Amino acid sequence: MRKIIVINSGSSSLKFKLFESPSKNVLASGLIERIGLDDSIITIKYGDKKKHREVQAIKDHTVAVDLLLQLLKKLDIVTDLNEISAVGHRVVAGGEYFKKSVPVDGNVIKKIEDIIELAPLHNPANLVGIKVFKKLLPNALSVVAFDTAFHQTLPEENFMYSTPYDWYKEYGVRRYGAHGISHRYVSLRAAELMGKPVEDLKLVTCHLGAGASITAVKNGKSFDTSMGFTPLTGIQMATRSGDVDVSLVAYMMKKLKVKSVSEILYMLNKESGFLGVSGVSLDMRDVEAAAAKNNKRAELAIKLFYNDIVKYIGQYYMEMKGIDGIVFTAGIGENSPETREAIMNELSFLGVTIDKEENTKRGTEGIVSGKDSSITVMRIPTDEEYMICCDVEALMNK
Ligand code: AMP
Repeated sequence: MRKIIVINSGSSSLKFKLFESPSKNVLASGLIERIGLDDSIITIKYGDKKKHREVQAIKDHTVAVDLLLQLLKKLDIVTDLNEISAVGHRVVAGGEYFKKSVPVDGNVIKKIEDIIELAPLHNPANLVGIKVFKKLLPNALSVVAFDTAFHQTLPEENFMYSTPYDWYKEYGVRRYGAHGISHRYVSLRAAELMGKPVEDLKLVTCHLGAGASITAVKNGKSFDTSMGFTPLTGIQMATRSGDVDVSLVAYMMKKLKVKSVSEILYMLNKESGFLGVSGVSLDMRDVEAAAAKNNKRAELAIKLFYNDIVKYIGQYYMEMKGIDGIVFTAGIGENSPETREAIMNELSFLGVTIDKEENTKRGTEGIVSGKDSSITVMRIPTDEEYMICCDVEALMNK
């Protein structure tokens, strides 16, 4: 039986999921954290609720991957490493080069290196993962899947900014979007749940996690999306501001007497959003709990979040001339009935109704709108690794 491993490599962590092909059953999944430190942690879940956890010094990604592969054998998850026929890597930014998942070759690596500035924190870590697996599993097919690729179908009126045209031509300034693998996966699942071809549907997919973005998916293609040149813009997030007037960067540099733009950008990326507004936490669970005790700033953070979501849905309703289905996914979308209910209530004037009982459920697929609702609203757990596995499989079979 062939096996496919899907990798999400960060600067100090590496997440993986091992699939059997073609069944796509998950054989194991896990995480190596704190790579580079003396107390790195490796956790592997496998078999029937079995769990393996080790703490040890893992000096770099090569050691981490080597250890992971040895453990897969030791725990009898694979008998021979040659069973792993392919590796799928998640890459954050693909610029305008990558419109779909592709097999890795020297040219692909060079292009990912060329656009490192589009995701300076993520792409270098993704590249390390790609290179280490190439070295340690030289016979496996290596495939890259990009978070931006799904959004390459945006029409120019939705991806262009009204900045000098040369900025786009010379420097690639445009909207790239993010979370594309997730938006693509949930839009396909939504079509299944609705029993219609995705090509016939106008969907709005709300990926609401620590990072959050909303996408208009028209006839199966990304048509507009809330994240922009970087994942800072769009709706309010855990620690990111979402849309703000860029003039406040210069204004706040003066007010706070800071010398560099990056200090303000840091505050917009790391000290804003739920955390910055509520002053309570970056985690929606804590903010909801504080709001339940009448904490005014927590209430305000939630109001801003809901309002941002409604504004984007409204914009996409007009742009697509209607919406057939809305999807809620990721940490908050899958697990916060309060968020889904609040948004459905805001849309009641359009004829959206709620299935109150179904909406209380968390983390499973379900239609949370009422049978008579004008728009089908769904809760769909995202599965980016599964989507990448599908792409890898398609390339293996080519
Ligand atoms: P993600 O980035 O998709 O892993 O989502 C993580 C976020 O989901 C957390 O920071 C929480 O804010 C949110 N979350 C997870 N579980 C719940 C829950 N039961 N209720 C509300 N928010 C949740």
